[in-house]
Amino acid sequence: MNEKKAYRIFVDGEWREASGGRTYPVVNPATEEVLAHVPDASPEDMDRAIRAARRAFDEGPWRKTTPEDRARILRRIVDGLERRKEEFRHLLVANAGATYVTHYIQLDVAIRILAHYAELAVKFPFEEPLPPATFDNPMYPGVTSALLVRQPVGVCGLVPAWNFPLFLTLQKLGPALGAGCTVVVKPSPFVPLVDLTLAEIVAECDLPKGVYNLVVGESPELGARLVESPLVDKISFTGSAATGKKIMAAAAPTLKRVHLELGGKSAAIVLDDSQLDAWVMATSSPSFFHAGQGCAMCTRVLVPKRLHDTFTSKVVDFLRSTVRPGDPADPSTLLGPVIREERRRKIEEYIRSGEREGARLATGGKRPEDRPKGYFLEPTVFCDVRNTMTIAREEIFGPVLAILPFEDEEEAIRIANDSPYGLGGAIYASDTAKAIELAKRIRTGTVNINGGVTLLDAPFGGFKESGIGREGGIWSFYEYTEMQTIAWK
Ligand code: NAD
Repeated sequence: MNEKKAYRIFVDGEWREASGGRTYPVVNPATEEVLAHVPDASPEDMDRAIRAARRAFDEGPWRKTTPEDRARILRRIVDGLERRKEEFRHLLVANAGATYVTHYIQLDVAIRILAHYAELAVKFPFEEPLPPATFDNPMYPGVTSALLVRQPVGVCGLVPAWNFPLFLTLQKLGPALGAGCTVVVKPSPFVPLVDLTLAEIVAECDLPKGVYNLVVGESPELGARLVESPLVDKISFTGSAATGKKIMAAAAPTLKRVHLELGGKSAAIVLDDSQLDAWVMATSSPSFFHAGQGCAMCTRVLVPKRLHDTFTSKVVDFLRSTVRPGDPADPSTLLGPVIREERRRKIEEYIRSGEREGARLATGGKRPEDRPKGYFLEPTVFCDVRNTMTIAREEIFGPVLAILPFEDEEEAIRIANDSPYGLGGAIYASDTAKAIELAKRIRTGTVNINGGVTLLDAPFGGFKESGIGREGGIWSFYEYTEMQTIAWK
């Protein structure tokens, strides 16, 4: 990485410095080294980007493009990403602390998803006939025909979370551009380098000016400006429930569309011990890859009371033998750093709360002694956790797992559902049919059974405080379009 590289924001088809030439340093969470100085945009820069996106939507040639034109542009972005894939891999490691084990999703699947959005752009029913009216209008007798048109929703503010930066931006950018919207992207201040590099690719894809804008800066005021602006039609946000609530309130005066992909406190239920060793690995590893910084990870593991102690000691053995904190630049590392020192301190407060409230610390809980630099934490497991404890209720977003005992299936379902969140979930059971029936009783957006994975075309999103709306496949196109009915006699 070149620390001297002069990064710019991209507004109205031009590379610009942030107003006043202000910059801020971006840090590698594994080494604490400064990777680059990037623009620290002001609210005025954001306003300029919003006005550009509005003009491009209302007056520019973008609205006249066909789905095929837009798919071609998405495919050009995919080609650019493929060409610079190794550069992105390096950025994901250095800026997001992403271990290689996460790269399949962070990089390969991310690019594939964009290619899939290009395919879907030409398949999506932007126009379709509606069935003839079933009643006659006495004022205008005769057969009425009608057309359902799905119009682009308009100017979209895209605000992804930092933890899967390329994946989350492409998950929004693909359907937004594919549907014919114009966008202002506001990445997390923690990981701007991925979006700044993506912008270099997008800038070469012949988009009309103002269709794609990138504004980077440290202040939460930038996102707030986007949400409040009467010129913006929709916000697609991925981040914490706390910020999601602020966004919903701030969007109310302009009644803009709000799509929220928020946090979770998902539960994995282990129903029996038919494959206990496999399920120990399956339930414990996701909470530590990417240092537990994933929205849908099952950070509560529910096990039958009779298996609780055996299960816990197997988890501890697995972690001690396999999952040591290390440099994410080393491909064999499974557990990297958390993103910031202040986030590490917050996680440590959660660990203290677990001890204070009576959970049993089975392993970890400290900073690793052999890593004086970087925001590392030992993989941490609490057992004998009760669902009323803070570590079972709040999203920790760090390498901390809670194991909770249950008496019977009814109690397991009750505990799984007793959460303000409703994002993910998992069931491990010898009887798949029974697990599917139980899954239907869990109030979350996704439930994976025995390691089943979410498909490219599956809708992803949350019940309750985990969000509003769904991302993924064709479902994303519905989120970036408005339905219009045109009826004629
Ligand atoms: P965050 O809420 O701290 O911040 C997200 C973004 O919001 C940042 O870019 C920030 O600058 C911006 N922001 C802050 N205040 C704002 C405001 N008032 N108006 C508009 N924007 C504002 O979240 P984070 O730490 O970046 O991400 C972690 C969270 O994201 C976790 O809760 C995680 O579960 C969630 N997440 C959810 C999904 C999902 O698909 N459901 C995926 C990944 C991460």
